[in-house]
Amino acid sequence: MTNFLSQTREELIRALDGLGISHNHSKLLFNQVYRDLKRFPGDSPGLSKKGKDKLRNLLVQTPNIKSLKTSQEDQSIKFIVALGDGKLVETVLMPEKSRLTLCLSSQVGCAQRCTFCHTGRMGLARNLTVGEIVGQVFLINEWLENQKFEFSSNNLKKITNIVFMGMGEPLDNFENLVRSIKILTDPWGLALPPRKIAVSTAGHLDGMVKLQKEDLKVSLALSLHIIDEKKRSKLMPINKRYPLSLVIDQAKKYSKAINRAVLIQYTLFSGVNDSPMDAVYLSNFLKNTNFKVNLIPFNSFDNSNFQRPSDEQLINFQSILIKNNIRSMIRYSKGRDIGAACGQLALQ
Ligand code: SF4
Repeated sequence: MTNFLSQTREELIRALDGLGISHNHSKLLFNQVYRDLKRFPGDSPGLSKKGKDKLRNLLVQTPNIKSLKTSQEDQSIKFIVALGDGKLVETVLMPEKSRLTLCLSSQVGCAQRCTFCHTGRMGLARNLTVGEIVGQVFLINEWLENQKFEFSSNNLKKITNIVFMGMGEPLDNFENLVRSIKILTDPWGLALPPRKIAVSTAGHLDGMVKLQKEDLKVSLALSLHIIDEKKRSKLMPINKRYPLSLVIDQAKKYSKAINRAVLIQYTLFSGVNDSPMDAVYLSNFLKNTNFKVNLIPFNSFDNSNFQRPSDEQLINFQSILIKNNIRSMIRYSKGRDIGAACGQLALQ
């Protein structure tokens, strides 16, 4: 059996060509799978019986939805998704005015072990395959199509934006990430514009360099959180391998290459990185860049060693950035009440 969702267009064309399926019909199959959400390409109308027989082994294979929880605060939905080997990951759907964003997982767990992150405590079990990454998108689009209700913020029935901000460090699963992006942006398939896909990283320098070389033009989000190299290495062990000074230089290069701002994620932890002095350090650090900053108050979870700052601290922090001409927004993570917010994703 071949999973349709794990194949790039070129690979499928080659395989289908070998089966005597024409180029035009291959295009039609792409449309039927990604836009019409048909699971059995072999049932495609217009195919001869011989053609249908040949396509018997080509299936759309996705993970399964094991359970879901809907946020009462903002209608975000957290899906627990079961993979073929029984492992579980989380995928979060976030409705907003004029868009439906899906937060994808790229790994089961994560090897980076950032001290504030629930996923980091799980350690890494394994990378997700291309079929499992693209499969999350197919699965949730299919789920959306079968729902009768509409979100209060929009009446969309298809995912419009993707963020690789779920479980895992996406650049640690580089090959599968890149192949998935190629499939998700393919004009024959979902045709998601690259700017509507954001890859988030804790600062994986090698991965950032390789991503730029791939020239996929996707957006980049850098989880920065603290400027001081020593403190950052404690908070985010990846900093010992890839110091922030080098990571930020690469982020500037990436921004120039895609001609768009890189998004800086700065989670505020009370008493750790939320003082007025920290805001000044951050402003100086980002001076002369076109980066945008998302200020995110920490979302707590059981046994966390960190606290959420007060709203006053948060507003104070932002006002210092604004005074220093740093573009910033306070982002309250969606799905807090269902454990779906930034840093809260984890499964036992
Ligand atoms: S914050 Fe991201 S990179 Fe760090 S442990 Fe969590 S999932 Fe991994």
